[in-house]
Amino acid sequence: MSDSGFTTQTVHFGHRNDAQHGAVHAAVHPSTEFTYHDAHQLAAVFQNRQKGYTYARTGTPTTAALEAQVTAMEQGNGTVAFATGMAALNAVFFALLRQGDHLIASKYIFGNTNSLLMTLENFGVELSLVDATDAAQVQAALRPNTRMVFVETIANPGTQVADLQTIGALCQAHKLVYVVDSTLSSPYLRRGRDFGASLVVNSLSKHIGGHGNALGGAVTQTGLYDWADFPHIYPQYQKDDSHTWGLLQIKKKGLRDMGGTLSSDVAHRIAAGAETLGLRMNRLCGNALALAQALERHPLVERVQYPGLVSHPQHQRATELFQGLYGGLLGVVLKEHVDVFAVLNRLRVAALATHLGDNRTLVLPAAHTIYYEMGAERRALMGIPDGFLRISVGIEEETDLINDFTAALA
Ligand SMILES: *Cc1c(COP(=O)(O)O)cnc(C)c1O
Repeated sequence: MSDSGFTTQTVHFGHRNDAQHGAVHAAVHPSTEFTYHDAHQLAAVFQNRQKGYTYARTGTPTTAALEAQVTAMEQGNGTVAFATGMAALNAVFFALLRQGDHLIASKYIFGNTNSLLMTLENFGVELSLVDATDAAQVQAALRPNTRMVFVETIANPGTQVADLQTIGALCQAHKLVYVVDSTLSSPYLRRGRDFGASLVVNSLSKHIGGHGNALGGAVTQTGLYDWADFPHIYPQYQKDDSHTWGLLQIKKKGLRDMGGTLSSDVAHRIAAGAETLGLRMNRLCGNALALAQALERHPLVERVQYPGLVSHPQHQRATELFQGLYGGLLGVVLKEHVDVFAVLNRLRVAALATHLGDNRTLVLPAAHTIYYEMGAERRALMGIPDGFLRISVGIEEETDLINDFTAALA
């Protein structure tokens, strides 16, 4: 199985693991607590000497099945699932970083993550926001107390493509934890381990779940990082192979202490959605490229930001990294005199909604919604003008989408 294709592995993953019933989906376990006939066994599970479940805040067999599925997709050595992508990111930062540490992050990132990093700064973590499309800028920001580098594969919403591989090599040379948020590309376009990532974060709410009916997040450990080189792993998590310590700490701190836990019901929904990740990505990436090309030619459009366009500054890099697919997100900047709200109100197919990676095409005036709270200055830093539309392209018929936007702009 391990040498077969992405979708073959994904759809056959579940039932290969249920020897008892041959069920094709993992059972949905509703129990909050798990009991043991022998108290020694109960203690052994609590002490991590034996595998098992204790209280559903730290996981159930259903969330474990989803974690195994994501681990297989990313070809990592383990995954922890969370209630949302933001819970996953919180767990990574707060479980691993301490006051006085230095974090280098791309300045082109999801607005809520940007906001989270500001909170982290208030806890005494030093933060440098750099243009991560240029690895030299990451290099220049290094300090003796730098512990971690954080980037998005394809940035939400500007679609900048970080210099993922060079930054990976840099992190390896300096023994830094390299965290890659792979939400916009998903493991289908490329696995985080190929960039040298230590940890890969995926919002399962987006492409992996795919249907706009479930929130979830995941942190996958690639196994490339040796946590013996990281100064903040608590002694109790320094057990067995040192390439596994970090994720154990993320699980203990992020799930047990912080409580951002995914429920079994939702884990099942995400696992079912994940089966068609490859099909949906092929379709929506094709739609996105066609729509990007059509909108780029439109006289009312100032510019289109999409890695699949030759005009995109990192088009060449994206082509090499993602093998001819460029994701589903477009940034479309309308000409200054165009009434953004009037255009949006004339759309008949695309839905006005936040979210991305859905089957449906969704559109949002970014500066007026998700980037409103951070203010004009920070928006300018991140390259989000007032006329910026974030379009998350879905799986509809291509001509319906092009016609919808063309009519709305007419
Ligand atoms: C949406 C998103 C998140 C957060 O995921 P949620 O599941 O919505 O909490 C994190 N990173 C990126 C790049 C995202 O687009």
